[in-house]
Amino acid sequence: MLFTDLKLIKPILDALKTEGYTQPTPIQEKAIPSILEGRDLLGTAQTGTGKTAAFAIPILQNLAEKNSRNNNIKVLVLTPTRELAIQIEESFNAYGKNLNIRNLVVFGGVKQAAQEKALRRGVDILVATPGRLLDFVSQRIVSLQNLEVFVLDEADRMLDMGFVHDVKRIIKLLPPKRQTLFFSATFPDEISKLANSMLTNPVKVEV
Ligand code: AMP
Repeated sequence: MLFTDLKLIKPILDALKTEGYTQPTPIQEKAIPSILEGRDLLGTAQTGTGKTAAFAIPILQNLAEKNSRNNNIKVLVLTPTRELAIQIEESFNAYGKNLNIRNLVVFGGVKQAAQEKALRRGVDILVATPGRLLDFVSQRIVSLQNLEVFVLDEADRMLDMGFVHDVKRIIKLLPPKRQTLFFSATFPDEISKLANSMLTNPVKVEV
């Protein structure tokens, strides 16, 4: 299969060509059509499988097709580490380079001012680590009330790193009617329970 078989719009296909991608990886082949349809997704996937593009490409396409110009955060990607957050935002930038969609990454351990300024200018897709996101929410710099898509990346690592309470607090801030994409490399009980509590009739993708 080729990316051109996946019903992707030209600006995205052009960006993928620039990246040198021609064939989707197995997780991309399975996940992209379901995410484009608006389905929830439960993904068992490690880093290195092409997981990031599997969610970033259809999220960008769905946003591009809606084309709503306002300053609401429409997509939140929650990830445990600063390094992953930066990589994910770079992927959105790369695949979305021919689209008019604003991405931003925020994480802790650095001063807040520059991130805050960017947030105030308006962001469509926010990639964040949990602590810094909650800081911005409690200062009312970030509102998640109009969120359309929530991605929980590396859920098992999130729990291993002690973010379980933060993650649960963030989930409570999200509108119940939304698309949720849940990724984890492993599914111990606690992760399965969390996934079940967040997902509605998800497509399951394992690679
Ligand atoms: P990830 O699993 O999302 O961390 O991606 C692993 C690496 O594979 C990244 O460096 C991507 O740029 C690259 N990649 C993802 N999808 C494809 C693809 N379909 N073709 C070639 N490279 C890809």
